[in-house]
Amino acid sequence: MNHPAIRIAVLHFSHETVTFLKNDTTLDDFVFPGSPASGEALLGAYPKSYMGGFVKMAREFDGVELVGIESPLWPKTGIGSGWVTGEAFETFVGKMIAGLKAEAAFDGVYLCVHGAMAVRGVPRPEAELARRVREAVGPKAFIAATFDLHGNEDEAFLRSADIAFAVKYFPHYDEYLQGERAARTLVRAIRGDYKPTHVTIRVPVISPTVLQWTGASPWMDLGQRALVWEAREPDVYVNIFFGFPFADVPDVGMTVQVLTNGNPKLAEQVGRDLAGTIWRQREALLKSSRIHSIADGVALAKQAVAKAAVPVVLADHSDRSGYATWLLREIVAQDLSNTLIATIADAKATARLKAMGAKAGDSFDMEIGGLADESAGEPVRIQGTILNAVEGYGQFWVCIQFGRNNVLILSTYLVQIMEPFSLKALGLDIGSFEVIAIKSRVHFRRGFDDNGFAKTILLVEPSEPFLGTTRLDKLPYQNVDLTQFYPYGSPAFSI
Ligand SMILES: [Zn+2]
Repeated sequence: MNHPAIRIAVLHFSHETVTFLKNDTTLDDFVFPGSPASGEALLGAYPKSYMGGFVKMAREFDGVELVGIESPLWPKTGIGSGWVTGEAFETFVGKMIAGLKAEAAFDGVYLCVHGAMAVRGVPRPEAELARRVREAVGPKAFIAATFDLHGNEDEAFLRSADIAFAVKYFPHYDEYLQGERAARTLVRAIRGDYKPTHVTIRVPVISPTVLQWTGASPWMDLGQRALVWEAREPDVYVNIFFGFPFADVPDVGMTVQVLTNGNPKLAEQVGRDLAGTIWRQREALLKSSRIHSIADGVALAKQAVAKAAVPVVLADHSDRSGYATWLLREIVAQDLSNTLIATIADAKATARLKAMGAKAGDSFDMEIGGLADESAGEPVRIQGTILNAVEGYGQFWVCIQFGRNNVLILSTYLVQIMEPFSLKALGLDIGSFEVIAIKSRVHFRRGFDDNGFAKTILLVEPSEPFLGTTRLDKLPYQNVDLTQFYPYGSPAFSI
């Protein structure tokens, strides 16, 4: 069948904002070689993620033209920066709207967002973006988006947009798949074959991200329940937002969205089923993982090494700046050996080393890390030998050998090591370490746990409740009343 040609605008604006960090995410943080991007450069920016899936699927339909509107890529600070400035938001959204108008008209728009961006002065940034895009493209165009399940979303987004797809797994294995589904559903909607009809239900449960691993019950069961509904009812799609509690924004907590093809009753039925499932499971959801103090975690790592239950992963889930030295200090104090510490972020130290022309074989004696804010602790003096110093991924990386066969990786920004093999690029033999100390909450499970690599996994956090803590009631929220959420209050919830 021949369809009339359709034009879809593609936009990208993503960040997961830890508003309790002191360093704002500025306009400059979004500007680097390759960003902002437009045209094919934007469409090809993240080939294995949402964008890649969207572009591939959209182009499988005849007569679909994709127009990449100038958009910023993920900021170079990654997830290690705080509030996005109003200037950054207004500048890029202003350019997007101007681009949409300059390239008009469009039958559809794809918004590649995360959902947990927090902007000074803009309470719901993704919904605000959708609202302005709607104004620009008019009421007839369809607006589709993809989200991370850490998005903080309420009813506002789908008031302006029509279609939303969020990943179901944490680690987020299905980004590409959700991009494909967004493309197919958007094209079907434009062609009159899908009438987006949705329901959004907020569930007053708030949880630290480190607990939200979907590799085990009960978090796994929520995704499974959503998949069952999608399997048994054609054209039904379910999003479960776990939420991101380290953003001090009004729409934190859990949210269920259900999309159907013109069937509001079914949307309501599925939404209530999922919301009810979450509410019944709330206690188990909050008790899903054990968190150790750093001293206990390091002691348990030593015991695991003695029993040859190696490699051991020590994951400091709470470090939000990348500079935290608590775990490093304890590893030195308890004299661990054959340990890899990946990474300690320190922009000043890496800049100095780069300026000095640091290279393999140089001796090393510096105070590193700490000080970014109180959660980072004090710098730690490391004396050893440089194994490697390389430029890559917009950072300067220095590997330092010290102590009894320990290696520390110094990076410019916060780094979450998700796959052991990613360290090969630094010339490290991952198999030679008994203990691997990383900064990650759940994403590391894909490369260290789900595949059976690590024999022991220990999640740790400092004894003081710093900004990445599991003890959310110790965080200085101004826009969130925790007593409105389980487990910090007794909110009334019935469906
Ligand atoms: Zn996420």
